[in-house]
Amino acid sequence: MRVHVVGNVCVDTTFQLGRFPQPGETLNASSHVDGLGGKGANQAVAAARTGADVRFHAAIGDDTAGLWIRERLSRDLDASHLTVLALPSDRSTIIVDVRGENLIVTGASCAAAFDPLADGGFATSIEHGDIVVMQGNLLPDVTTSCLQAARSAGAMTILNPSPLAVGSTPCMDAVSLAVVNAGEAEQLTGTGDAAAAARELIRQGTEGTIVTLGAAGCLVADREGRIDRFAAPKVDVVDTSGAGDVFCGCLAGCLAAGISLAAAARIAVRAAAISVGRPGTLGSCPDRQEMKILME
Ligand code: ATP
Repeated sequence: MRVHVVGNVCVDTTFQLGRFPQPGETLNASSHVDGLGGKGANQAVAAARTGADVRFHAAIGDDTAGLWIRERLSRDLDASHLTVLALPSDRSTIIVDVRGENLIVTGASCAAAFDPLADGGFATSIEHGDIVVMQGNLLPDVTTSCLQAARSAGAMTILNPSPLAVGSTPCMDAVSLAVVNAGEAEQLTGTGDAAAAARELIRQGTEGTIVTLGAAGCLVADREGRIDRFAAPKVDVVDTSGAGDVFCGCLAGCLAAGISLAAAARIAVRAAAISVGRPGTLGSCPDRQEMKILME
């Protein structure tokens, strides 16, 4: 079983400053660093670190940032399936002040223009039993079409609809498994009760739903009405960014290895807990050896 992660990838440049600049002001950062980012990339790398055969479908620009992205991705997975568009590669500038507050500006031309179905390659690469994982960074119509194509090809589809597109509701009947955090669950269903929200997403068409609950772990709901809760280990939190992506990627990788949904959720909770105890987004994701131990 192969895992196809369909989504976005970008260069995140993080500037560390004493304080945020005022309009018209220029400040020197105390440090700046480039990192690989984008929810698609984060989830693809996390899945690859479980040992899964991952195909990452995303678009990069025809620029040096695109080359940099390809090189960084190929440390973890086969990056030969990226689509190159005649656009600048996607980028985020992240300014972090001494209090740890951040300001983020994103340029996402590639994600906005990317349609994996446009050249036929995506649809033909999916085989019965594959797992297709998507997030909310592509255009909502594109996401829906890809999920439907994946389902028609007999794949299991996992949708982590983050970031939720304003004014558009994900098409849940093309989704085998929805993975949402507590805030998204409430936004999508109108209820703050995670179990009730999970049942509502199943009523909307998913076969199963996972609600991630931060320090409280996650709950898994199925069509038979069963709800299982998986507690997170206690961790000294350093940086929670990317925890949801580690969870989703790890979950997909475990399912591709034939691990049951309940056992995969338990492993994903532990992988995400490791990531919150370390700094960085992708940098905090467990490595292959750590994933292997979690999966034993
Ligand atoms: P993020 O936006 O920070 O990437 P999210 O909002 O998508 O995350 P959360 O529910 O906050 O999703 O976290 C995802 C998973 O990460 C949780 O299900 C849990 O397993 C783990 N996690 C998050 N916060 C903590 C914490 N404080 N302690 C232990 N595990 C945590």
